[in-house]
Parts: sequence; structure tokens; C-alpha cells
Amino acid sequence: MSYVDEVLAKVKEKNASEPEFLQAVEEVLNSLRPVIDANEDKYRREALLERICEPERQFKFRVPWVDDKGQVQVNTGYRVQFNSAIGPYKGGLRLHPSVNIGIIKFLGFEQIFKNSLTGLPIGGGKGGSDFDPKGKSDREVMAFCQSFMTELCKYIGADTDVPAGDIGTGAREIGYMFGQYKRIRGLYEGVLTGKGLTYGGSLARTEATGYGLLYLTQELMKDHNESMEGKTVVVSGAGNVAIYAIQKAQQMGAKVVTCSDSTGWIYDPEGIDVDLLKEVKEVKRARLTEYAAARPSAEYHEGRGVWQIKCDIALPCATQNELLIDDAKQLVANGCKAVCEGANMPTTIDATEYLQENGVWFVGGKAANAGGVATSALEMSQNSERLSWTFEEVDAKLQNIMVNIYHNISDAAKRYGFEGNYVVGANIAGFEKVAEAMEAQGVC
Ligand code: NDP
Repeated sequence: MSYVDEVLAKVKEKNASEPEFLQAVEEVLNSLRPVIDANEDKYRREALLERICEPERQFKFRVPWVDDKGQVQVNTGYRVQFNSAIGPYKGGLRLHPSVNIGIIKFLGFEQIFKNSLTGLPIGGGKGGSDFDPKGKSDREVMAFCQSFMTELCKYIGADTDVPAGDIGTGAREIGYMFGQYKRIRGLYEGVLTGKGLTYGGSLARTEATGYGLLYLTQELMKDHNESMEGKTVVVSGAGNVAIYAIQKAQQMGAKVVTCSDSTGWIYDPEGIDVDLLKEVKEVKRARLTEYAAARPSAEYHEGRGVWQIKCDIALPCATQNELLIDDAKQLVANGCKAVCEGANMPTTIDATEYLQENGVWFVGGKAANAGGVATSALEMSQNSERLSWTFEEVDAKLQNIMVNIYHNISDAAKRYGFEGNYVVGANIAGFEKVAEAMEAQGVC
């Protein structure tokens, strides 16, 4: 049995109740076969893959808080510190009822390779809670965040583990958490990223994941002698990633005709009105029905359906496993040329394979959405030197990072004979640096 198969079997046996984690490990290890097979004896002796698939440390804790009626509520908090070979753990905090240890481990595992791809010194971690900020008052969100940080602050720090936002954790939640960290630890340090601009946040961090996704997509198109100008784009999601992806795509001359949330989706053939979308989602925190009500050209549909709209480029920006095999077939039938993932693992493995087999240029989230964490690392740098860079400086660095990521993953794929397979390229390019650092640091 090959070393990869041996490890996959062990990981499956050990983590049988964590399907998302298994899916992520399977996707990564399968695509690393050319590298692992070439170093099989050495890696087996070092148990390199077993180590890379096992978090260095994970925390699970009680988060009690009091709601507006005076009732005590109890949620579960998580932080997985997956791999610190190339830097302090770095990765967001997800607040969503679906959160469990398997989801956090899948995200933390992906984060190791994504962070490596940015070229910056950051290890992989992830955390969150099954708390749902939706429908809660600001006071309730604050009560939860303070309780969550009261426990989490024992395990994090500017040089050890630096959490950030993710689904459900935006500027408001990061602010409450930062305040509580400072109060308990007595330290004014860059322990969280995604902070507000008045207390150590970086300009362009809010826009970074969506903008970065488009910088990479643009480079991909350029490499195939195409441009963004005049292209029809479908986007899923209506959160932080989706909003700024839509904005940048439009600035590049493309027309974005869809967005979605967890209850329905919008088809707006005249192009999504980003200012209106921001008002509905960022200010009012309302449903997309309000977008449709305010915009005569828009249709609102219940459920899911953005992938049935004809497009040149598809950008899934909502959540994991939202682009399924039938969606992939529909995209191919409609002549879609490129799919780049703004969300983490939005495309299932069979859908990814179908897209690749049918000539669609497919770039996975690990590479395509790395702009968020890259800019978080730039926020850490600014905090360390106690300076703030201008929007243009940060944006230019982000653009440079995304262009480099595209070429690194494209070159890595070519080196191993998989030209055009950006999934293999991203996993290999991300893995090589982490593996080398782990080997250099001995058995730990
Ligand atoms: P937000 O919470 O800001 O937005 C998420 C969007 O996806 C919302 O529109 C939400 O709908 C929708 N959504 C969430 N869960 C589901 C679901 N189960 N089914 C359908 N729609 C759903 O999160 P972000 O934009 O920050 O994150 C989106 C994705 O991008 C995630 O996979 C995240 O891990 C990834 N990512 C985010 C980064 C960042 O910097 N923010 C960096 C890298 C990756 P509703 O409005 O109804 O809640």
C-alpha cells in the first residue's frame, strides 16, 4: 500500500465522525501523491503525513452568557492550533450553528497550506463556536464575545496564535473580543486581525478576500489570453467575501448578475447594485428579499440556484459544499470558462473533478481566497512596527501576493506534469514549504 493510502486509512479510522475534515484531508493527500511518492521512504520514516494531519493542540470550552431576557445560554467554543512550522497559528473564528470540531479541523487543515502559499510567516489554525449571531441584539453578541474571549485569551497572543474573522465574525465581533482580551491580559497587542481602523486594523483588510480573489482570477484569465472586461460573472453569498468580490469584478469591467444568502438568491440581469447590497447586508443585516424589493431589475428566488445562470466565470463565496455535481454540469453546459473559490471548499470533490475534466480552469479556495489571511498578516506586520500603511500600499502588496500565488501554483503543477491543474499546484506549493520547515525542526 502506498504511504498516502496508509495515512488516509488511518485518518479515516481515527476521525470517522468528521466528514468535512476527511474530505479536506483526502483532497490534499491525493493531490500530493507525486511529491509523496518521490520521497516515500523518508516521509514514512518521519511520519510526516501523520503529523501534518494531527493538530498540534485543540481546545474545546464552555461559553455561558446571559440573553436579553435574563436567561443563561450555553454555547461551545473551539480553537484548533493545527501547525506552527512556519509561523504563529493564524486563522479565523467561525460563529455559526453548524460549527463542530470536524468543521474547525477541516478549516484549520486547509489553512496550513493556504497560509504557506501567501509566502508570509504564518502557521495554520481555526476556531469558532456554534453560537448564531443572527437575530441577537448587540448586547447579546457582546455578552457572548466577552465570555468566549475570557476562555480563549489563555491560549492566544500576538506571537503564538492570532485569530481573525470568518462566517458570523465581522468587525463588531472582533471589536468586542479585542476589548475583552485587552482587559483580561492587560496587553495592547495585535492578537486579532480584522480590527477596526481606530484600534490597529489595516486598511483594505475588509476588502482583501474578495479583491484578492479577483486579482488572482484576472491573472488566470490573462494567462489564457482573456480579460475580465465584459465577462458575465455569477457569485454566491452576500457576505464579506461576496460583496467585495462583486465590487472588484465590476471595477474590472465584468458584469456580476447574482448573489445569494442562506435562504435565497438574486438574479439581477442589469448587474448587482453593490451599494444597495451593502446597505441590506452590512447595515440592516436583512434578507435578500429587501434587495429585490428596492431594485426593479432584480428577481428573488427561494432556495439555491445561482449556478444555473449562464456565465463566463463562477465565484462561489458563501460556504462549504455549495457547488455540487449537478451545478458543475450546468456550468459546463452553459459554457463557463473559470471557477475560482472565494469560500473554503465550496465545491465538492466530484464537482471539482467534473469541472477540471471538462476544461474549466478551476482554482480552489486555498489559493484563490488567500488574500484575506495575507492581508491579516500585513495587519500583524503593521501592529508590530506600530505603523499604518495607506490603502494603496496594502492593496498593492495584496495584488502582488495574489499574482505570485497564481504563478507559484501554476509552476508547481507544471513541474510535476499536471499543467493547468491548479488544485494539485496549490497543494504541492503549499505543502513543500511546510514539509521542509517541519523536517528542519526535527520530531515535534
Ligand atoms: P459572511 O458571514 O460575511 O457571509 C457568508 C455568506 O454566505 C452569507 O451571505 C450567508 O448567508 C451565506 N451562507 C452562510 N452559510 C450558508 C449556508 N449554509 N448555505 C447558504 N449560504 C450560506 O462570511 P464570509 O463572507 O466572511 O465567508 C464566506 C466564505 O469565505 C466562508 O467559507 C469563509 O470560510 C471563507 N473565507 C472568508 C474569509 C474572510 O476574510 N472573510 C477569508 C477566506 C475565506 P446569510 O446572510 O443568510 O447568513
